Amino acid sequence: MARRISIGSRVVAPFGSRRVLTGIVAELHDRQPAAGVRVKPVAELLDDAPIALESQIALWRWMAQYYMCSLGEVLRAALPGGLKLESGTLDEALRQGYKPRTVRSVRLADEYVDEARLNAVFDALVRSPRATALLTRYLDLADAGAAFTLGNPRLLLPVSRSALLADGGEAALKSLCERGVLQLYDQPVGRIDTDALPEQLAARPLTPAQQKAVDEIRAAWTQRPICLLHGVTSSGKTEIYVQLIREALARGEQVLYLLPEIVLTAQLTDRLRRVFGRQMGVYHSKFGDAERVEVWQKMLGPNPYDILVGVRSSVFLPFQRLGLVIIDEEHETSFKQQDSAPRYHARSAAIMLAQQAGARTLLATATPSVETYALARQGRYGLVELNVRYGDVLLPEIEVVDVKDLRRRRLMTGHFSPPLLAAMRQTLDSRGQVILFQNRRGWAPMMECRDCGWTPRCDHCDVSLTYHRRLGRMTCHYCGATYAVPTACPACGCADLSGRGMGTERVEDEIAALFPDARIARMDLDTTRTRDAYERIIDDFAHYRTDILIGTQMVTKGLDFERVGLVGILAADTMMALPDFRSHERAFHMMTQVAGRAGRRSRRGRVVLQTRAADSPVIAQVVRGDFAALFADQMQERQAFLFPPFCRLIYVVMRHRDEGVLDSLSRTCAEALRRAYPQHVLGPDAPPVARVQTMFIRKIVVKVAAPLSLPSVRAYLLQIRAWLLAQPNYGAAKIHFDVDPV
Ligand code: ADP
Ligand code: ZN
Ligand code: ZN
Repeated sequence: MARRISIGSRVVAPFGSRRVLTGIVAELHDRQPAAGVRVKPVAELLDDAPIALESQIALWRWMAQYYMCSLGEVLRAALPGGLKLESGTLDEALRQGYKPRTVRSVRLADEYVDEARLNAVFDALVRSPRATALLTRYLDLADAGAAFTLGNPRLLLPVSRSALLADGGEAALKSLCERGVLQLYDQPVGRIDTDALPEQLAARPLTPAQQKAVDEIRAAWTQRPICLLHGVTSSGKTEIYVQLIREALARGEQVLYLLPEIVLTAQLTDRLRRVFGRQMGVYHSKFGDAERVEVWQKMLGPNPYDILVGVRSSVFLPFQRLGLVIIDEEHETSFKQQDSAPRYHARSAAIMLAQQAGARTLLATATPSVETYALARQGRYGLVELNVRYGDVLLPEIEVVDVKDLRRRRLMTGHFSPPLLAAMRQTLDSRGQVILFQNRRGWAPMMECRDCGWTPRCDHCDVSLTYHRRLGRMTCHYCGATYAVPTACPACGCADLSGRGMGTERVEDEIAALFPDARIARMDLDTTRTRDAYERIIDDFAHYRTDILIGTQMVTKGLDFERVGLVGILAADTMMALPDFRSHERAFHMMTQVAGRAGRRSRRGRVVLQTRAADSPVIAQVVRGDFAALFADQMQERQAFLFPPFCRLIYVVMRHRDEGVLDSLSRTCAEALRRAYPQHVLGPDAPPVARVQTMFIRKIVVKVAAPLSLPSVRAYLLQIRAWLLAQPNYGAAKIHFDVDPV
C-alpha cells in the first residue's frame, strides 16, 4: 500500500477489536509512535487516487484549530455525503461508496474544434456518406456552433452514444473513433452539464466609473492581496467581477465566486452562464448529493471548472490553480455557519483559502461590515469606492414615516400609513412594481388571550409560538414543532385569542384586501421550501406577473428588477431593538440593501420607511446613505465597550437538560475564566431564547484583546472544557465554542 497511498486517500482502519472506521489520510510520516501507543495496519485503501488535495487538508486543519472543533467535524462538513463512508463493519464499508451514474457518450476531439481542421476531415470523408452523415448528426446534437465560434471545446453539449446511434451507424462511429475525430467516454449525469446552455452574450462594455474601479482594484492588488470594493447598490458590481474573472482566466487561473445562499439565484447564474458557458460550475446547498459529488470529482479531475460559483460550503472544494476569490455581499452574516461544527465564517475561510493558494481576494458589497471596513481603512486591505449607479440613476429617495404619531392620531389603516398606501397606488397606477419588506414570517409572531394576556409557548423552547394562518397551526421557529390553535385560553377559559404583531402572511392578507386588483406574491421561508418555488416567485416578478412582492429579508438581497418603483419598509424599528452590539449595523445593512432594490434603471426610486423610532440616528444614516457616519458611530461605541474590531469574541455555549446543573456549571466556568482574564469575561447569561429543544442554554463571552492572545485563550478554554466535562455531575453537559460569532 505504501506506494499507492497518499494524503487525501480514503482508508478503512480497525478500531478496537471488531469495529472499523473509514477515514482520510491526513499525514504520512515515519515518526516513532508515542510510548504505549500500539500501531495497527490500515485494513484497506479505498481509492486509486486521493479524493482530497493536500492543500484542502491544510485548510481543514486550520479551520479545526481556529474554530475550536475536531478535524473530523470539519471533514464531515467538507465532504459530500457520497464521498463519506460511515463507520461499520469492513464488509459494509467496502460495499458502499460512490459510483457516479454515467452514460456512454461521444465527443469531438479537442483539436477538431477548429473550422479548417474539421473541413479537412469532411473532405477526407467524401467517399464515406455514412461517416459524413454521422459526423453531421453529432455536430447537430452537440449544438456545436458556439464551440466553433469561440474556439472552446467545453461549449459542446454532451451527446450520448445511444442518441447518436438512434438510426444506426455503429460502423461509421467506429471508424471516426479510429481516426481520432470522435472519442467515446463516460459522461457523469447530473443536471449541471446536461442543462441546455443559454444563448451566449458578449461582455458589456464597462462604464468609465466601472473601468476606473477595475483599474483601482488591480492597482490595489499590487500592494496587498485583498481588496474591498465598496460600490453602491446597482453600481454594476457584477460587470466588474466579469471583467476581473476574464483576466484571471486569461492567466490560466481558477476563480471562486462566493455568495450567500439567498443571492445565488437563477438571475445571477444566468447572467454569468451567458458569459462563461460551461467553464462555470455551480455549487448550491440545495443540490442533491450526487450533484455535489460530481462537482467535487470534476474539480479534482484533469478538466476542472475554471469558475466555481457557490455558497458557503464551496470553500471546501478542491481547487488546483486558484487565482481569484470574489466574496460578494461580504457583510452577510449568513456566511457564518451557526448550528453545527465547524462554526466557520466562509469569508475568513475563503480568505485563508486564497492566501494558501497565493490568490487575490476581492470583497465586495454596498454595505461593508464594520470589521472589514476597519481593516480596509487601516490599510490591511485595499479599498476601492464606487459611488455612482449604473446609468447615473440616483439612489432612491427615502421618506421616513413616524408610525407612532399616526397611530395616536388614528390615521393608520391596519399596519399601513397613508403615505405608504398613496405611494403604492401611484406606483401601481404607473405600472410600476412594489416590494414590501417585513422581517417576520407567519401571520402573527405571537398569540395572546385578550382577557388575561396568556401566550402559547413552545414545550421544548423558551419562545412564544408564531401563528401561521395558512397552515392553521402555531409553529416554533426554533425547533419547528407545530401546535393546534387552542379554542379557548387554558389559563382563564376566555375564547378570545388573537394574534399580536404582524408577519408576512398577515401583510399579504391585508394588502390583498386593500388592493384587490393587484397581483401579490409572498417570499419567505414558508413559500420557498424548494429551489423551484423560490425561482418561480422571482421569475414571476421579473416578468411582471406580480405587482407586489411581500417578503422577509429574502427580498433585500441581490435582486435586480427594472420596474420596482417603490420599496416599503414596514417596521424598521424591530431590527434595531435586538440586544446585540451589531443590531444598528445590521439594521443599516438591511434597510440600505432593500432600499437599493428600488429604481435600478432609468427612473429614481422611492422608499417609504415606517418606524416608531423616527429619531434614531440609524434611520437618519440610512436616509442620507451615510455609511461613513454609521461606521464612525460604531467604531466609537465598540472601542468604548470593547467589541470587534477592537477585540475578537469567543462565546462559550453550555447546554444541559437540567437548569440547576447548568447554572452551577456555567458559574464555575465563568469563575475559572475570570480568574485568568479578569477584564475580559462577560456572563454567564441566558440568551434571549434560553431553552431550545428541551436544552437550557447559557453563554459566556470572552473578549480576546491585548494582552491576551488568541492561541493561549483557545488552549485555556479547551483545558477548562475538558476539566468541567470530567466532573461526574457535569458529564451530560454540552459545551461548544463559537469563535468570531455574528
Ligand atoms: P450591483 O450588483 O452593484 O447592485 P448589478 O451588477 O446588478 O449591480 O447591476 C445593476 C444593473 O445595471 C443590472 O441590471 C446590470 O445589467 C446593469 N449594468 C451594470 N453595468 C452595466 C454595463 N456596463 N452595461 C450594461 N448594463 C449594465
Ligand atoms: Zn386568558
Ligand atoms: Zn421549539
